Order: sequence, then structure tokens, then C-alpha cells
Amino acid sequence: MVNYWKEDIETMPREELEKLQLKRAKGMIKRAYDKIKPLHERYSEAGLTPDDLKELDDLAKFPLTHKDDLRDNYPFGLWAGKKEDAIRVHASSGTTGKPIVCGYNKHDVYDVFAEVNARSLVACGLTENDVIQNAYGYGLFTGGLGIHYGGEMMGATVIPISGGNTDRQLMLMQDFGSTAITCTPSYMIYLAEEIVNRGIDPDKIKLKVGIHGAEPWSEKMRAKIEDLMPGMNAIDIYGLTEIIGPGVSVNCDINRYEGLHVWEDHFLPEVLDPDNDYERVAPGERGEIVFSTLTREVSPLPRYRAKDISRLNYEKCKCGRTHARHDKITGRTDDMLIIHGVNVFPSQIESVLMNFEELSGYYQILIDREKLGSLDRIKVKIELTEEHFSDKIKDLEAFTEKVADKLHSTLLIHAHVELVAPGTIPRSVGKAKRVVDLRGDKI
Ligand code: ADP
Ligand code: ZN
Repeated sequence: MVNYWKEDIETMPREELEKLQLKRAKGMIKRAYDKIKPLHERYSEAGLTPDDLKELDDLAKFPLTHKDDLRDNYPFGLWAGKKEDAIRVHASSGTTGKPIVCGYNKHDVYDVFAEVNARSLVACGLTENDVIQNAYGYGLFTGGLGIHYGGEMMGATVIPISGGNTDRQLMLMQDFGSTAITCTPSYMIYLAEEIVNRGIDPDKIKLKVGIHGAEPWSEKMRAKIEDLMPGMNAIDIYGLTEIIGPGVSVNCDINRYEGLHVWEDHFLPEVLDPDNDYERVAPGERGEIVFSTLTREVSPLPRYRAKDISRLNYEKCKCGRTHARHDKITGRTDDMLIIHGVNVFPSQIESVLMNFEELSGYYQILIDREKLGSLDRIKVKIELTEEHFSDKIKDLEAFTEKVADKLHSTLLIHAHVELVAPGTIPRSVGKAKRVVDLRGDKI
């Protein structure tokens, strides 16, 4: 049996859903045009007014918005409305430069943010009887509070433990009988390792759903997590601060390998081709995802370039939901590495590594520039599990070579593979830093 949070909306016939999207898209564009000066100017320069949005396809006429629009207007210049309208502020870390700051009024917090998270938690198989250990960070980061409000709204018991403090995570998990955990996939790997290393009795772990996101992770990583945590389904949840935070899309429990449902009554997805002037791709093709916030009031963002790469599937899902699904995000256009002229995403490297059961879920990619010439050199640090760690240098050398060969035959990249002792690569409690770029001047 499939449980829904809002069955009528989640299974709404496509035609009806698109009517609702059009009505809401008109409201969003009008709000941006009337209330956000930089967007008003941009639309005016392009000779556009809200009246030019007559049908959904007309949205493609409106210029895209970018991270820089938010940065250039830091902190509140891209908000529709006054600072006083907001009851909450979130910001994304913004690894370079100023953070991205978004505001939420009561409607945004309860009717959008909490709503889509309640819906996501029910879609991935939880009910009000579940105990959710919320190990996403609380604070300006959207992960913690997003899941928190959603979990409370759908009636589960939420443990607001936040990220980190592994001893406490493992203690409360057993004592409170947590049935679900929310954290980054990289932290889940660490928790799973610790459960084994500390010899915790598997019967004391009641987790049946792990809800993981905030960073890219491959199908192979999911398999690794599910392997380490028998009895637990690993679910992918996706989102970004600029659009709302977590809960933009999620796997449904009965069809979790077949994409993430985008809650399309709130967020309108498009897939564009970065190599073809940001035209829409043909249906089902891969490209950069662009989202429009259909219902957000304080920080509406029409056609925002998320820079995440995926594709959309509009087929009705086995679960009965009609909302489109996007494939697991394979990476960001920003994260693409060019190694000796070959394009490769860190997640592709991860997929190759996760084929080796000898390896832990931890790895690091270091990019360097060779002294002579301008070729980029890539080093992949890999870690054996305790179980497979051997003292025999010859075994280790042969294994390292095997991994390098596999990277070459699969991805066509020559990587220098370095094997490190178990537990050496830093464990992260939040987003993992997989790529270390040692080049002074990034290309
Ligand atoms: P920041 O990382 O800048 O602090 P966010 O938390 O808003 O800000 O990060 C959003 C980004 O995180 C997304 O655009 C995407 O690249 C990545 N992300 C979030 N969830 C997932 C997921 N499930 N799979 C892959 N990438 C994800
Ligand atoms: Zn589904």
C-alpha cells in the first residue's frame, strides 16, 4: 500500500497539474516584476511584462537567474518584499565569496518548506509512528530545520540531534529506537562503519529508512550503504537553499532506483543544454536543471540555474504519483574536472571505486598541475577497509594498480592512485569534501 501526504495533489492528472503551475507561474513572474528591482530591469530590457506569460512554454522567454544575481544583491536585494516580512533566514555556505541569503515568511515556512518535507518523508515510507533522528546540521544550513518542520508536520517523533557527535548519535539511535535517520550519505557511511567497528549488536539498530542528500552520491554508494545497513532503505533527497532547501525532490519508497519526484505544484523544473545556448533539451535528455519557485513569497526565483545535471521523466510512477522524476544528480556543471582533455565528474570516479568491496566509502580526489606544461594531474586517494587491510606491500601494490587500470579503462583517465590506511581520510559530519584542487588558477 502506498501512503500519501496529500494524495489529491500528488496524484493529480498532468493536465490539471499544469493548469495549476501556469496559474502559479504567472503569480511568481508578476511578483518578481513588481517587487524585485534587478529582475524588473532585466525583464524590461528584454521587452517582457508579466502579460507575456500566457502558457507554460512562454516561461522559456524569461531570462535565467544565477547564483551571481543573489551574490551581487547580497544580502536582501533579490527579495520580493521587505526584510520585516520574513520570519526566518537561511543561507548557503557559498564556498567562494558571499553566501546566498534567502528569506521565508509564514507561508514559505509552513505551506511550502514544511509541507514539501512532510510530503517527502511520507513518500519515502515514514508514518507518524516513526522516530526520525535528524542528523543534518541545524542553523543557517537548510537541512536541519527543513527536515525538522516537515517531520513534526507529518507527526513523526523528531530527534533534533543535528550533525556530528558520533558517540551520541549511536547511543540515542539505540536508546530512542530511531527508525529513520537523515544525514549526508558520507556521514551515513561513517556511522555504519562505526556500528561495525564498535561491535554494536545489529538487533539494537532499528533504522529502516536513511534519508540522504546535500551532496552528490552514486548508485554504487547507495548499494554500499544498504549493504552495510541491512534492513535500511537508503533514500535520496535533493534540494537547494535558493529554491527552498531539502524537499525539492525525493525518491518514493517503492521505486527508489527510478528517480526523485519533484514536487511540481511548488517547483517547476526544466532541463537546459549548456552547450546550446541554454535551449531546452529534447524530452528525456540530460542537461542542467533549472527550477522556478512557484509559491515562494519572500524569495521567489524564476528560472534559477541550479547547475546540477540530470534529466526528467514525466511517466507516471508505480507509486501513483504524477509529479515528474529526475535522475539521481550526477554532479554540478561547476564540478566537472577536465583531466588531460577528458571530462569527468567526481561521481563517475566514485562509481568505479565503489565496485571494489575492499575499499571504504571514503576517497579524495586531488588535482594538481604538473610542473612542466599546463596538464592537470589527478591523484585519487583510496582507503581499504580494516578487513581488507594487509601488511604485504606486494598485495597492496597490485591492488592499487588494479584500481588505476579500472579508472583508465572505464573513464579513460590516467590517475595516480594512492592507497592510504583505514581511517586516514577525514570523515565529515556534513557535506564531504571529495575534491581538493591544488591548482592556483582554476580553469
Ligand atoms: P551550499 O552547499 O552552497 O551550502 P545548499 O545546501 O543549498 O548550499 O546546496 C545545494 C546543492 O547541494 C545542490 O545544488 C546540489 O549541488 C547539492 N545537493 C543537494 N542534495 C543533493 C542530492 N541529493 N544529490 C546530489 N547533490 C545534491
Ligand atoms: Zn514514485
